[in-house]
Amino acid sequence: MDNIDAERRSKNMRAIKSQDTLPEVIVRRLVRQLGMRYRLKYLLPGKPDLTFVGRRKVIFVHGCFWHQHGCRLVRPPKSNQSYWLPKLERTKIRDVENIAKLNAAGWSVLVVWECELKDEATLRRRLQEFLEPSSEQAGILGTFAENPFHLGMELSRYE
Ligand SMILES: [Zn+2]
Repeated sequence: MDNIDAERRSKNMRAIKSQDTLPEVIVRRLVRQLGMRYRLKYLLPGKPDLTFVGRRKVIFVHGCFWHQHGCRLVRPPKSNQSYWLPKLERTKIRDVENIAKLNAAGWSVLVVWECELKDEATLRRRLQEFLEPSSEQAGILGTFAENPFHLGMELSRYE
């Protein structure tokens, strides 16, 4: 492990510690702040972490390692590769299959990655864009999301 890795790792640990909670809990809190109601571990393919039955939408909160995000947080396991690699590969295939099944049944799927929790403002916008298609239909989403006035309002409303 080099210094940058060590630094990043301890920064991640601190970030996680200061939240004092799990990624799912953070996402649930952000969703609640948006005023949305959801079900936990609803019986659907892959047992989505949050299910919005009326909206026919689900959210998965994925750990970057277990679900092989391929982001900078993920490093291939150095030891026991014959055990880990097929296991991780199976998880990845299952994820793809579950999302395909959900889509085929008319469910929209959002995957939130563990590494996205570092930027809550951006994540909150992503959740909002996913859950509230009305702003999409209005066709002003891009400018709206980038508008600093709107962002300021959003921050003052939720924080
Ligand atoms: Zn990631």
